[in-house]
Order: sequence, then structure tokens, then C-alpha cells
Amino acid sequence: MGRAFLYVILGGGVAAGYAALDFSKSGISHGELCIISEEPVAPYERPALSKGYLLPEDPPRPPSFHTCVGENEERLTLKWYKEHGIELVLGTRVKSADVRRKTLLTAAGETISYKILIIATGARALKLEEFGIYGSNAENVGYLRNLADATRLVTVMRSCVGGNAVVIGGGYIGMECAASLVINKINVTMVFPEAQCMARLFTPKISSYYEDLYKSKGVRFLKGTVLSSFENDSSGKVTTVILRDGTRLPVDMVVVGIGILPNTSLFEGQLTLERGGIKVNGHMQTSDSSVYAVGDVASFPVKLFHEIRRLEHVDSARKSARHAVAAIMAPDKTGDFDYLPFFYSRVFTSSWQFYGDNAGEVVHYGDFSGKSFGAYWVNNGQLVGSFLEGGTKEEYEAIAKVTRLMPMVEDIPELERQGLGFALSV
Ligand code: FAD
Ligand code: NDP
Repeated sequence: MGRAFLYVILGGGVAAGYAALDFSKSGISHGELCIISEEPVAPYERPALSKGYLLPEDPPRPPSFHTCVGENEERLTLKWYKEHGIELVLGTRVKSADVRRKTLLTAAGETISYKILIIATGARALKLEEFGIYGSNAENVGYLRNLADATRLVTVMRSCVGGNAVVIGGGYIGMECAASLVINKINVTMVFPEAQCMARLFTPKISSYYEDLYKSKGVRFLKGTVLSSFENDSSGKVTTVILRDGTRLPVDMVVVGIGILPNTSLFEGQLTLERGGIKVNGHMQTSDSSVYAVGDVASFPVKLFHEIRRLEHVDSARKSARHAVAAIMAPDKTGDFDYLPFFYSRVFTSSWQFYGDNAGEVVHYGDFSGKSFGAYWVNNGQLVGSFLEGGTKEEYEAIAKVTRLMPMVEDIPELERQGLGFALSV
């Protein structure tokens, strides 16, 4: 049994949704494109899951956040895919891929063949078991990667109002979920191994601003330690979290955000991998010319920094997907992907954006006791990264622009004195 398509997108997340939109804009015919996704829903804006979706009042639910509302584009509902003749094969896991034969085999036993494949399989959440800690399948322990996880988390949260949660991990998931738990009137303790939250991106000074904000909302931080085991009641629910330093924390629920692993396994041994992802060129094309990779799973050349990188953020998923479609449809008219790395988050009433690279010497500016401050990173005499909390649209555009230009910075104290004004004057 089998079907054949000109274009197949494997994975139905953010990148798949934006690729579908651009395929349809470029005028493909009905029946040419198929999207296969393990999730039972059409592609949606995954960032909504750790923000609005977890809030107690008027939380957004599908179909309100299907792609591509995140870029103020059309919202692609099931009806849209149908009307555009795009085959959505949902709730279906691809269990093997044969790049030489150009076929995918689904868990349901169907063989789907393609002329051009876009791999958009994203990533999966790392499990505590992978760190030797057992018991994370208890009903009151949650991860957050997909809509099913988010729905489960909401159910658990609703049964824990007024109770205690432990959040494991001080990265994006940990910080955004902790804020949502607080808003749901749950007492939160955050546990992570580093000395500061968001250690991979933030400077200690920036981290300390957000930790103070969280503390003012009642969040407790236990840093520099990790989980060692769980204690459960007779129904299997976790009742106590035990840390490596011996601390015992009574809990009603646990949220785990300890990183992700890109879903590359179907292609290991068939395509070239680098930095944990599937290596692509500036057209998002893999080591097999009929196969492209986009989003979290792709390691691509970041031209600005002359380096292959794998990014785990929504903006790069959207833009890399759109670039792959452009390169597929008009290879001669499409240049190499030239991406400025962009990360952001919104928690409570605060909101920050970061562009570029957090390498080199850091120059902080602004009022760290107020709501508007930022930082620049200067590496080998060039400005390479910019962070801003509480900016306006114009200010964020200015820090993006100055970062892309990578100006030489000869006078660091002067940059510090000018602060945001430096970006606004460029
Ligand atoms: P995904 O969106 O993860 O989609 C991958 C899809 O492939 C999934 O549907 C999966 O089920 C499917 N799939 C995988 N393997 C198979 C298989 N074998 N067969 C069939 N289907 C398969 N980034 C930001 O920049 N800002 C944010 O605020 C932000 N918030 C986030 C909040 C949450 C809760 C999460 C989890 C992520 C967030 N991110 C954010 C990251 C961002 O969502 C990802 O970078 C983005 O979703 C990556 O898109 P993708 O299409 O590569 O992968
Ligand atoms: P992150 O990589 O952001 O953070 C993981 C955190 O968990 C780090 O602080 C890490 O420390 C810590 N950690 C690792 N192992 C353990 C352990 N055994 N015990 C306790 N802590 C541990 O991953 P997340 O899970 O937070 O996020 C997953 C994905 O979701 C990322 O791709 C992220 O980009 C995306 N996301 C993005 C958002 C945004 O951009 N606003 C919002 C939500 C999710 P260490 O650094 O030492 O390993």
C-alpha cells in the first residue's frame, strides 16, 4: 500500500505550517504536497503552549493559534489544508525512512514516497530517566513539548491550586512554566544545577533581575543542586522531591524542563549530521540533494558568524522553512539563508528580546531596578549581540539592526554611556 507526492514534509509543527503556507503561495497544484505528523492536530504556534495556554482565564485553544498567526499571516485550519489540496496525514508516526529509495514508512504500515522531502521533525523533551532519575511517568509530573503535554499540565495545575509545585530546570520551559504556575496560584520552587537562571544566554546581572522579579512573586530558587529521587504515595503520585543535597520538598506537582534532543534518528547513517542536527547548506539542503531540513532539527550555516549552528527557536523555524520552500521552488533566484539569531520571552509583565551572539565582553546599560535595561556583547572589537528588556517595537528593531551591522566598538565606556541610544542612532 502506498501513496506518492511531489513534496512531503515530515513533521507537522511550526516549520511545517510556514512551509505549507509558502508552498501554497508559490502556486503548487492540489495533491502535490503531503504533511505527515505524529500529532493529531494541524500545525500550530508551539510558543502558545507555555504562555497563554496555561493561564487560568480565557486561555487560547486551537484553532485560535494554528500557524501562521505568529507572523500575522493566514491561520491554517484543517479547512484551509483541504481547500488548498494539501494532504494532512495526522496522528501518524513515521517509523523509518529510506533516503536512497525516497520513501517513508508510517507506523500504520503505509509507504509514502516523495521527490522532495523536507525534514521538520523538531525535537523531543529530554526525560529525567535519561539522567538516571526514575518516576517521571507519575500522573502529577509533566513535561511540555506538545499540545497533549500542555492539556495534561492544565489538568494537573487545576487540581493543585493553593498547593506546591517544583519546577526542574532553569531554562526557557522552567522560567515560563514557573510564571504560569504562580499566576494559577500555585507555590513554586525552582531547582536547577547552575548558579543562575537562563545561564546559557543571560549574564549573572540579567539573571539576577529576573530572579528578583520571580522572588517578588513568591518563587523560591534552589540553585546549584539537582533532583536525586522522588517519593510516591500508594497511588503512584509524587509526594516528595528529594534533592542531591538531601533537601526534601513536599509537592503536589512537578514540571520538568531540562532540555531537548532533536529528532534525527530516522536519518542517522543516511544524512550528514553536525552539532546534533541534520547538516544543511544555505538552501537548507542536506547531504542528499532531494532532502531539506528546517527548524529545530537543522544545523545550518549562520553566515554572520561563519559557523554551523542548530537553533531551537520559533523565528528560525519559521524563516528556515520559508527559505527552504523558496530554494526548492526557485533555486537559481534564492541566495543562501542569512539569518540573524533571535530569541525572546514574555513572563508576567516583562518581555525581552535578544539578537545575535552572546560572546565576548558584556556591556550592560539602563536601569536594572526599573523596567528598561539591556546589554551588548562585543567580541574582537565588534558588537555581536544585543539584549533589551521592556523595549518598544522601534527599540527592538533598532537593536536588531545594529546587531546585524556588527559595528566596530572602540570605546566600551562610551557604548555603556550611550546605552540604547547607540542602537537608536545607527
Ligand atoms: P516542532 O514545532 O517541534 O514540530 C515537529 C513536529 O514533528 C511535531 O509535530 C512532531 O510530533 C513531529 N514529528 C517528529 N517526529 C516525527 C515522526 N517520526 N513522524 C511524524 N511526525 C513527527 N521559541 C521561541 O523562539 N519563542 C518562544 O516563546 C517559544 N516558546 C516555546 C514554548 C514551548 C512550550 C515549546 C515546546 C517551544 C517553544 N519555543 C519557542 C521553541 C519553538 O516552538 C520551536 O523552536 C519550534 O516549534 C520548532 O519548530 P519545528 O517545526 O522545527 O519543530
Ligand atoms: P533549556 O535548554 O532552555 O534549559 C534546560 C535547563 O535545565 C537548563 O537550565 C539545564 O542546565 C537544566 N538541566 C539540565 N539537566 C538538568 C537536571 N538533571 N536537573 C535539573 N536541571 C537540569 O531547555 P528547556 O527544556 O527549558 O526548553 C526546551 C526547548 O523549548 C528549548 O529548545 C527552548 O528553546 C524551547 N523554548 C523556548 C522558549 C522561548 O524561546 N521563549 C520558551 C519555551 C521553550 P544546563 O544548562 O546546566 O544543562
